[in-house]
Amino acid sequence: MSVIYHPQKYKLEDLPMQNFIDSEEIWEILKRNENPSPERVREVIARSLDKHRLSLEETAVLINANTLDLIEEIKNGARELKERVYGKRIVLFAPLYIGNLCVNNCAYCGFRTDNKKQKRITLSSEEIKAEVEMLEDSGHKRLILVYGEHPKYDAEFIAETVRNVYSVKKGNGEIRRVNINAAPMDIEGFKVVKDAGIGTYQVFQETYDRNAYLKVHLGGKKRDYDWRITALDRAQEAGIDDVGIGALLGLYDWRFEVLGLLRHVNHFEAVYNVGPHTISFPRLKQASGFDVKPEFEVSDEEFTRLVAILRLAVPYTGLILTAREPAHIRDEVLQFGVSQIDGGTNIEMKGYSSRKDQQDLDHEQFTIGDNRTLNEVMEELLGHGYLPSFCTACYRLKRTGEHFMEFSVPGFIKRFCQPNAMLTMAEYLEDYAPAETREKGYKLIAENLKEYKDDQFREKLIDRLERVKKGERDLYF
Ligand code: SAM
Ligand code: SF4
Repeated sequence: MSVIYHPQKYKLEDLPMQNFIDSEEIWEILKRNENPSPERVREVIARSLDKHRLSLEETAVLINANTLDLIEEIKNGARELKERVYGKRIVLFAPLYIGNLCVNNCAYCGFRTDNKKQKRITLSSEEIKAEVEMLEDSGHKRLILVYGEHPKYDAEFIAETVRNVYSVKKGNGEIRRVNINAAPMDIEGFKVVKDAGIGTYQVFQETYDRNAYLKVHLGGKKRDYDWRITALDRAQEAGIDDVGIGALLGLYDWRFEVLGLLRHVNHFEAVYNVGPHTISFPRLKQASGFDVKPEFEVSDEEFTRLVAILRLAVPYTGLILTAREPAHIRDEVLQFGVSQIDGGTNIEMKGYSSRKDQQDLDHEQFTIGDNRTLNEVMEELLGHGYLPSFCTACYRLKRTGEHFMEFSVPGFIKRFCQPNAMLTMAEYLEDYAPAETREKGYKLIAENLKEYKDDQFREKLIDRLERVKKGERDLYF
């Protein structure tokens, strides 16, 4: 039985938690749609290309399409949707680990309380400043701050670190959007971090299956599945409407997790009339103290397929891919409409300022698969014709739900996102890029300008680009 929420009737304490994700229902849906005909698969792809969010049933059809030909058609569908809707820009960000003290015992994480080898560090405000200066010096404008779960990292502490990051200005550098990935809080706590000016609040359910959840969350507050699955509802109640969901792939069957994510999206749409801002889908990586059996490991083939399916299922939600994935996988799934990636990532505590390239598992949460510098990632993106973007305009103009607008407002990408990508890219090219990247970047901007047939708008954009070259910063549409 589906659980339907009515926004008008809804109260947080009334939420029927036990039914939020109904495992049996999800398995039934998957079973009902086994061995779909090629016609049915094509029909579903066409519905997505027609800009409809897919239902659980329709998504199950794509998940069950197992022949090589049909998988290729799904991937082509995702490519086409990306081309039609999202254009060429890719938003870049970096994670910054603030503290790895943790009272929880997640079997997959290097920060788990049982891992006595882990060196525990909490950055002081001076150390945060040093990290942020390094990040600004490489060209970043958007960060996600990451925290273990510990009484020390309460809402006040988190809010203070966010304010601290915003206050650091080095040269022309500044961080214009700070997102956070932190343990669930109560409504009062969420209000405190909202007031510090966070962008997105992100928390992953890890796995939507209750039994699988209990198998790996061995102790601490995180063991409480219900507290976690309602985290983003409390965030919404506190006024944070930009929220990010996610599943940690490898804890349970990926087919189930894709439908779990979609079920979570449905919930937000039904209750708040707005879906989550972003979806993340990290794959499990080795970590110090790691203790998870490999029975649900997601292969490269399954991973690229599931990203294409997610793109088609939720055509207006931002998809985030992280440095956990190796470069060749990142390059493939970018074609399916991943909208944000991190670049120049270092997940070691104090890793940006210590400039250590070697990974040391006793200082970090897990291994990463892409050690390229931000400029190397930029080069790669430019080489493929993507427009790297550091844009934060929507957030600062209070245009929330930007991914939805990109998708649903005709011309939004062309009039706002692409120009802002070019303007922030020009800032990068002026302030941080080596000569070679600079040349490539401006060439790509010139090519993109040709697409603007409206003379007046093109002139306005060219004028702003010239102003950036002359030293003005932070211009946006
Ligand atoms: N402590 C908070 C929490 O657990 O929600 C926030 C920070 S936690 C470090 C951020 C995310 O890292 C987790 O939600 C989990 O999905 C991911 N993670 C943990 N261990 C991982 C591993 N071995 N491989 C890949 N991702 C991992
Ligand atoms: Fe702690 Fe988060 Fe790691 Fe779990 S995933 S051990 S809560 S830091």
